[in-house]
Amino acid sequence: MPMPDPNVVAIIPAAGRGRRVGGELPKQYRPLQGKPLLWHTLNLFEGCPVVQGIILVIHPEDRALCREQVLGGEEGFAKVRQVVDGGAERFESVLAGLQATGEADEIIVVHDAARPFVSAALIHRVIAAAVRYDAAIAAVPAIDTIKEVEEKVVVRTLPRSRMWCAQTPQAFRRELLQEAYSRLTPGEGATDEAGLIERLGKPVQIVVGEHKNFKVTTVEDLAEAEWRMSKSGETEKSRDRRRVGQGYDVHRLQSGRDLVLGGIHVDHPRGLEGHSDADVLTHAIIDALLGATGLGDIGRQFPDSDPAYKDISSLILLESVGEMLSKRGVEVLNVDAVIVAQSPRLAPYLGAMSDAMSRVLHLPSERISLKATTTEGLGFVGREEGIAAQAVALVDL
Ligand code: MG
Repeated sequence: MPMPDPNVVAIIPAAGRGRRVGGELPKQYRPLQGKPLLWHTLNLFEGCPVVQGIILVIHPEDRALCREQVLGGEEGFAKVRQVVDGGAERFESVLAGLQATGEADEIIVVHDAARPFVSAALIHRVIAAAVRYDAAIAAVPAIDTIKEVEEKVVVRTLPRSRMWCAQTPQAFRRELLQEAYSRLTPGEGATDEAGLIERLGKPVQIVVGEHKNFKVTTVEDLAEAEWRMSKSGETEKSRDRRRVGQGYDVHRLQSGRDLVLGGIHVDHPRGLEGHSDADVLTHAIIDALLGATGLGDIGRQFPDSDPAYKDISSLILLESVGEMLSKRGVEVLNVDAVIVAQSPRLAPYLGAMSDAMSRVLHLPSERISLKATTTEGLGFVGREEGIAAQAVALVDL
């Protein structure tokens, strides 16, 4: 879903006492893989590019605990801009967080401290839906049949196809959420923010949530959370941040030019036609890297209308793409490419090509895999009218 860049602030209510899990510590401070549950949840929002700031709502008695165990770590959380005291009920805590927001905050996204498995993609989708519809929540279709019960006797069975279980994130335009809270009368409460919006008679958009985004409530949940984190932990996080890109390029063969592939001069009677040195392999790799990072393509970064790039070595362009990526903190995990040429035989050059690329990208050469193939005489490659190259790149954002 395309969206402009709204100002988004996350409110994380973490003031509950979490009695149902038992033990000395409130559940949000219970360790999972060596870090408090709350730390894991904050870490997800810290790493979420669409969220600009975080307001953390805690119990006043937990100040020291939170500072030492959650916020005081070596990395800290740059996005946590306020830590405010919450109330006895969850909706009071969210209200305390809301009161700490300002005019510049357009979208408020509320997320339970005890849901440490939400994906960045779901956070993004809920925010995008709130930008479009003003109010949106993550929810999953009910799996079990839901009964309405009084005094342990079923009153009726609700139509399961219409039943959804609400999760967080829940995201709203700030004014709308403020209006909903302003209508709250003493003694009234709400188990989630969406309930307050519904009372205003305003529609709340559903975004299909994730079953893995469960709320850690009981001792069994805590054990399940521990198991999930030990199983996937860091890999889950890094999988969310990995991106693949592809590149494809073709250049025409022409007499009177040098053939340059992967930055290496290849002995051949003809070379490739183009504005730069027409290094078709390097171009495909550049496009794969730019694609994986969402930076467009080679034509956008280095327009061929620009005389600066006339006959330039494409390795210089590749080097500058590498710098562009590293400035953004993007790590190239690997590149795999194939040159499609009828002749000459390229195998003897492939090692030198990957060495040249590894130098400009500051990557070990084993992360750059190069291959060459012919098309068995078929098509434009087979007729030796041109050379093609195709590449994929995997990056860690
Ligand atoms: Mg090209």
